[in-house]
Formats: sequence, C-alpha cells, structure tokens
Amino acid sequence: PIQTTENIWHNGKLIPWADANIHVMSHVVHYGSSVFEGIRCYSQGEEGKTNGGGIFRLREHMQRFIASAKIYRMPIDYTVDQLCDAVVEVVEANNASPCYIRPVAFRGYGEIGVSPLKSPVEIYIANFPWGNFLHGNEGANVCVSSWNRLAPNTMPSLAKAGANYMNSQLIRMEAAVNGFDEGIALDRNGYLSEGSGENLFIVREGKLFTSPLANAVLNGITRASIVQLAKEMGIEVIEQSLPRELLYICDEAFFTGTAAEVTHLRSVDRILVGDGTMGPITTKLQTEYMNLVNGRTADRFGWITPVRIR
Ligand code: PMP
Repeated sequence: PIQTTENIWHNGKLIPWADANIHVMSHVVHYGSSVFEGIRCYSQGEEGKTNGGGIFRLREHMQRFIASAKIYRMPIDYTVDQLCDAVVEVVEANNASPCYIRPVAFRGYGEIGVSPLKSPVEIYIANFPWGNFLHGNEGANVCVSSWNRLAPNTMPSLAKAGANYMNSQLIRMEAAVNGFDEGIALDRNGYLSEGSGENLFIVREGKLFTSPLANAVLNGITRASIVQLAKEMGIEVIEQSLPRELLYICDEAFFTGTAAEVTHLRSVDRILVGDGTMGPITTKLQTEYMNLVNGRTADRFGWITPVRIR
C-alpha cells in the first residue's frame, strides 16, 4: 500500500490527501483520459547526512507532462516553471524525501460521451515516501512478451498516457504469471521496443545500443541521461532497430527508468545474458547514475532541483 502524506496539490492548491477524490462518472474512469509522470526525489550527499532532497530532472519530466497533454488536446493552464514550483511546494509541505512524485492530469466530471473536450481538466500532484531501494543487483529474469508494443498511429507512444498502461499491464501480468520479473515487448515490426515501464539497452562489443523512439518506446528521461553519461565516458551509443535475438547473444543488457533506475538483465527467456552477472559497462553506468541522483558527484548537468526537508 501507498504510504500516505498530508497534502496533495490540486489545480493550484494544497488539499488533504483524503480529500483528493473524483466522481465515478468522471471521463477518465471510463475512457482512460489521463496523462501522468513518475519522478524521484533522492536524499543528497553522504549517507546519514540530512542535506535535504533533490528532485531528478524535474523540468524534463514536467516538459514531457505538458507534451503528453498537448497530444491529447488537454489544456494545462500552468507553465513548466509553475508546475515545477508546484512539485517543490508539495514535496516541501509533506516533508517527505526520498520520495516518489506522481503528477497526473485527467478529464474529470462533465460529459459522458467519448469526446473529452467538454470535461474539465483536473491536475493533481501527489508524493509519498519511497526509499532508495537497492536492487541487490542480482538482475532481472525477463521474457519476450507475446504482446506487442503500441503500433504507430494507434496510441501515441510519446505520450505518457494512463491508457498506454493497459498494454503495459498485459505485458507485466503475462510475465508475472509465467514466473518472470518483467516482459520486453516487440514493436509491430518485430523489433525490440521496451519493458512495460522501462527502456532497454544492450551492450555488444563495447558499444551501447538502444531502440529509437520510432520503435514505440517512451522517450525515457533515464534513457536520455544514460545516453549522455555513456557519451561522456566515451562509449559509442547507437540508436537503431534491434532484432530480438540480439538479446540472446549480447554481452550485457539493462533496463532504465525512474523506478528501475539501472537494472541489469540476468536472463531473457531463460537464456543467460553473458554469464548472468552485471557486466562492466552496466556497472560503470549504474554507479555514475546512482552517484549523480544521490548528489555524491557534482551535478554538472543541472539535473537536480533542491528541496528543503525539515
Ligand atoms: N517506458 C515506459 C513504458 C515507462 O512507463 C517508463 C517509466 N516512465 C519508461 C520507459 C522510463 O522512462 P523514465 O526514464 O522517464 O522514467
């Protein structure tokens, strides 16, 4: 269960957690008309020191939030800056860090027809404590899903829309009932796409490969961060359509995402990736990523928004 906090931001005001309710006849309940974000706030600095919190790439998340809404013709009456300030306001008011932050915008109570245009847009921002869970680094045992990712011109993959997660749920459930940690979906042409909630990277002969946005992947913010870190380390990054079988013969593979951070794949369809342990390039990238988000190395890219925690 979610560990609750005191306040939730709603259309410009802080309201009590328990009052953040909607009517069952709200448009979103019936037609999935929502867009959302998932953001992490990390403790900063050395373990045990209270240096406040730091929100990772807040601005990029709120830009993607507005972009998702724009695709669905959902007016957002706030600028990126105002939304970023709102996130800081609610995190500081709740005094919760490390935490997970969940902004969501949806079509509320109004018309019940399919067109959302006459239903009001409601925006909420919730946050709740979420520790820096350690992966244990034993790696994920995954399968290739029998479900494909969203086909072009059906549900737009570049929108982080609630309804896209019906597809994610099919992938995730199938994996779970078959004893896997996660499923990797192919796109409609049979190329590798992504996990139900993570982008995918493959390492082969020292080079880093990831699927391009055209292969039905979300433009993940962790994905972009890893690409930037890899380039900084002098690792060649190649974005191209990737055949499924590359997963079986690569040297290393890993997921990226706000929740997953950098998680290596131990096996795919019960075939070990390399020898199953986390490889050197994944280890290097994971270490640098975790050092950055936790403020253990300098924030040289301006990726951390500080928050005051009492
Ligand atoms: N793909 C999907 C489908 C996701 O839900 C997520 C999580 N938001 C990601 C990729 C990773 O994106 P990010 O790094 O921005 O969290």
